[in-house]
Amino acid sequence: MAVVTVERKVLKKNEMVAGENRKIFGDKGIFTLNLLSSPGSGKTSLLEKTLESLSGRLNLAVVEGDVQTDNDAQRISAYDVPVVQIVTNGGCHLEAKLVQDALPNFNLDQLDFLIIENVGNLVCPANYDLGEHKKVVLISTTEGDDKPLKYPAMFRVADLMIINKIDLLQYVDFNLEKVIENARQINPNLEIISLSCRTGENLKEWISWLETQKIK
Ligand code: MG
Ligand code: ZN
Repeated sequence: MAVVTVERKVLKKNEMVAGENRKIFGDKGIFTLNLLSSPGSGKTSLLEKTLESLSGRLNLAVVEGDVQTDNDAQRISAYDVPVVQIVTNGGCHLEAKLVQDALPNFNLDQLDFLIIENVGNLVCPANYDLGEHKKVVLISTTEGDDKPLKYPAMFRVADLMIINKIDLLQYVDFNLEKVIENARQINPNLEIISLSCRTGENLKEWISWLETQKIK
């Protein structure tokens, strides 16, 4: 089928460019994360908290992927870190080429970490390698605890799952044990951290995780 062929070609090209990105990140010693979730799970809030506690200790930069608007990039720029906004104009995922085109905006020699906030979408971003070292998927307690089962591809490729908004657990029908069980059923090696960006509960565990990441 023609549609399948086009999709394959696009993905193959993307993998090639992702490989180039990975080489650049490796050569420059930049650990790169791809941050993924549905809209509203708290990716930008997590980034804000991360920058609050890490700025001055590590040289971080951020790529913001959004369908429309630069609202998130504006929030991030308040933290005095280099940030580049990619507006996809309706596109529902970032591609490696978009990230590559953003790189000349940074002083790569001075960076330790690059965090890429992907477009809010749990479906196709799973298929698009950006050249990152690890994928972090966010899910929040205001979503269904069956999300790992509904979007298995995303949870299969993720290295770490962050469960956000645990301060709301008492108000929602979200079963923490159940979501962990569902996620591990899809990906037994998935690392898991639950936290609240709003109250700061357990943020330390995420920050320690970040600080121990190394380029292999
Ligand atoms: Mg955001
Ligand atoms: Zn997409």
